Formats: sequence, C-alpha cells, structure tokens
Amino acid sequence: MAGTITFTMIKPDAFSDGNSGSIIKMIEEAGFQLKAMKLTRLSDRKASQFYAVHKERPFFNDLVKYMSSGPIVAIVLEKDNAVEDFRKLIGATNPAEAAEGTIRKLFAKSIEANAIHGSDSDENAKIESSFFFSNLEIFHID
Ligand code: ATP
Ligand code: MG
Repeated sequence: MAGTITFTMIKPDAFSDGNSGSIIKMIEEAGFQLKAMKLTRLSDRKASQFYAVHKERPFFNDLVKYMSSGPIVAIVLEKDNAVEDFRKLIGATNPAEAAEGTIRKLFAKSIEANAIHGSDSDENAKIESSFFFSNLEIFHID
C-alpha cells in the first residue's frame, strides 16, 4: 500500500519571490495536511548531503550553491498516496514541461530554480523528513 507521508521544500527562488503562502495554499487545497514545518537555510554541506544522490551529475555544484543561497521552508505532509499525488501537484522537474496548473508551471523559473521539492518514494520521504525534523514523533508521524 502507498504511504501517507511525503516531504517538500519551498526552494530559495520561490521563498525569496514571496510565493511561500500561495504555494502552501495550493498544497492544502489539494488535500494535504501540514504535519511539521520549518523556515530554515541549508549550508553547502547540508545541501550536498540532501542531494548526494546527484553528486556525479554535471549540475551538482550549481544545485548545491542554489539550494544554499537563501532560506527554504521544509514541510512534512500527510495524505493518502502522498508521494505520487504530490509529484503530480508539483509537475515536471523542467517547468517548460510541467502541466498547466502545477506548482512548477506557476512558480518555477528554470530546470534548476524550480520552486519546490517533492520526495520520489515512501522511503525517501522518511529519510528526508528525518533530515530536517529530529522530533517527528511529537507530530504523530512514524
Ligand atoms: P526534486 O528532487 O528537487 O524534487 P526532481 O525529483 O523533480 O526534483 P531531480 O532529478 O531529483 O528532480 O533533480 C533534483 C534537482 O536538481 C531538480 O529539482 C533541479 O533543481 C536540479 N536539476 C535537475 N536536473 C537539472 C539539470 N539538468 N540542470 C540543472 N539543474 C537540474
Ligand atoms: Mg528528486
């Protein structure tokens, strides 16, 4: 059975453009419940750890620089079929290919500065949530 938890970040471009409120509204209207949320900023080291899976990719250094360039909002979300439904809501990685009405279509600037992150599996949703929140049990997430 698909899991009920996913993890997202409002990325530095969307945060600095003042789009956090609009994005959170879209997330809630799509039926996701906010379980834990934090305004924070990634160091270079933390951004490298978070995206370690991409470390051999040509865009890795730029990605780390971009993700540590300003504040982000880290959020744990709950909904049935959370991971898949959230990936649908955010749209394709490249906003030029993102479907109409998706968060990336509306707010992303480029394939790199693409406004929002979404976990790609139930397993990664847990790992990524734990990366930002050490006290998930107080939010009744296990
Ligand atoms: P995310 O993991 O942030 O939700 P994603 O799963 O849609 O995005 P990934 O393939 O995991 O896409 O890439 C991680 C991030 O790396 C992208 O969201 C984007 O910011 C950046 N990225 C991906 N591909 C490129 C590329 N070709 N050029 C520049 N940046 C890229
Ligand atoms: Mg990804």
